[in-house]
Amino acid sequence: MNFQPDAGLQAFRAEVRAFLLEYLPASLRGQTLGVRSSCDAMARWQRILNDHGWGAPSWTSEHGGTGWDAAQLQVFDEECAALGAPKQDVFAHRLLGPVMNAFASSEQRAEHMPAILRGERFWCQGFSEPGAGSDLASLRTQAVRDGDYYVVNGQKTWTSYAHEADWIFLLVRTDPAAKKQAGISFLLVDMKTPGITVRPIITIDGCHHLNETYFDNVRVPVGNRIGAEGDGWKATKFLLNNEHAATADLPSLLRYMQVLKRLATSQFVGSVALAQRPEFALRLAQMEGELRALEVMVHRVAELEREQSPVTHVMGSLLKIRGTDLQQRMTGLLVESLGDYGAVAYLPAHDHAVGMEPLPWQQMAQGIATEMFFRRASTIYGGTSEVQRGIVAKLMFQL
Ligand SMILES: Cc1cc2nc3c(=O)[nH]c(=O)nc-3n(C[C@H](O)[C@H](O)[C@H](O)COP(=O)(O)OP(=O)(O)OC[C@H]3O[C@@H](n4cnc5c(N)ncnc54)[C@H](O)[C@@H]3O)c2cc1C
Repeated sequence: MNFQPDAGLQAFRAEVRAFLLEYLPASLRGQTLGVRSSCDAMARWQRILNDHGWGAPSWTSEHGGTGWDAAQLQVFDEECAALGAPKQDVFAHRLLGPVMNAFASSEQRAEHMPAILRGERFWCQGFSEPGAGSDLASLRTQAVRDGDYYVVNGQKTWTSYAHEADWIFLLVRTDPAAKKQAGISFLLVDMKTPGITVRPIITIDGCHHLNETYFDNVRVPVGNRIGAEGDGWKATKFLLNNEHAATADLPSLLRYMQVLKRLATSQFVGSVALAQRPEFALRLAQMEGELRALEVMVHRVAELEREQSPVTHVMGSLLKIRGTDLQQRMTGLLVESLGDYGAVAYLPAHDHAVGMEPLPWQQMAQGIATEMFFRRASTIYGGTSEVQRGIVAKLMFQL
């Protein structure tokens, strides 16, 4: 493998950087750490990107995307992370978009993809249920055909951002008699449909990201089904493969390293800056080494994807295992770097109930603690590390 970025990619990086410096408004830069920007910020940034033809960096050009390859997409993500730009809606862009591209009808694409590009439609993912997480194919939410509609009944859980989403992509069982995977269909559902109830789950970071989502006689047009009835597992497997690689979240790791280095020179123990303390400097250097190795791995996966190599799937799971482990250790070191402030920083980042604007160090500390607590879940969401190791072992046998 060639470790030197080619000249074309370097020129592309310069183009992206110049674009961001010109079009990313100061008010949207340096988004606080803590997983997701507000919907307003995301929609605003989405509109700016779209107005300049960069609305969907991960989509093919025939559906309004930039048509960039995986290496270009990585460069775009890295440059956005360096300036702390709001992230795009990962469910719409990285998970649903490619599924629409591969499996949806032209009418479905025309209805949903432009709305995503314009930042008008946020999505959530209705896969997991109580009793169906790692073993997703045992899901029980039922959809029964009634003329041109399905009537959906059941419960989803851990539904990230269901309380903010306009639509949900939903796995339902349409044939209870068929073999587990064979009886599943993939539906697109408007969250405003009567019969949907969303209840919050507050996580250890004190924030509201997650929900329980209930479906009580929810009528969904048959035309909202992606692919054939009972054939939803194909699109699901395709989506999950993309999700594994995306969850490694290299852009966030790069951002953590940026903040860690800033803290290393601005935080002192007595009169000695953290960066001057050998133990801290060693840990930081080791993490940077691991981060660079992950970066190379991400670029290698991009190459393998281009070559349509059969090991790409294994690499997606390996990326998820390595990336999420590093997310947890780096956010741990971030909190440690704050010293005593790290301990008092455990306040909900979005809770303004006390009616006081936080001081600058409080703002930063809150974001960091929130991020650290949230990342405890990164080895669970998108498929647990144990399950990813199982996938790697199984696929290695098949190669
Ligand atoms: C923060 C967060 C956000 C999430 N967002 C969403 C979302 O938006 N939409 C959605 O649908 N879901 C979401 N999830 C759910 C997530 O996909 C599941 O939590 C995950 O797949 C694990 O399923 P489970 O929680 O049912 O655990 P279980 O499957 O019950 O697993 C319990 C334990 O058993 C282990 N285990 C299970 N099977 C195996 C095996 N075969 N080999 C080895 N070990 C095994 C697991 O590793 C785990 O330690 C989210 C979860 C979290 C924590």
